[in-house]
Amino acid sequence: MENQNVWIERKTRDYREKCSKCGTPKILEAFNRDKSKFAGRRSECSECSQKYAKKHYEDNREQRKEYQRLYYEVNEKVKMAEW
Ligand SMILES: [Zn+2]
Repeated sequence: MENQNVWIERKTRDYREKCSKCGTPKILEAFNRDKSKFAGRRSECSECSQKYAKKHYEDNREQRKEYQRLYYEVNEKVKMAEW
């Protein structure tokens, strides 16, 4: 049983999965866990998902600012109404 575990460990350690975004073969640890995905890993490496998250964040920055401004305005009005 122990030998089998060692064998599996060695196999999975040597195994490289190709990232769907950059196409670079990487070890499984380089992929973020995602329970909804096949094999419990995302198809893009953590580097690529980080890049995507950053881009997504920048794309939504203006929208978020607007939301925060509106939220602040409403909040101020509520505060004034309370006084
Ligand atoms: Zn990648």
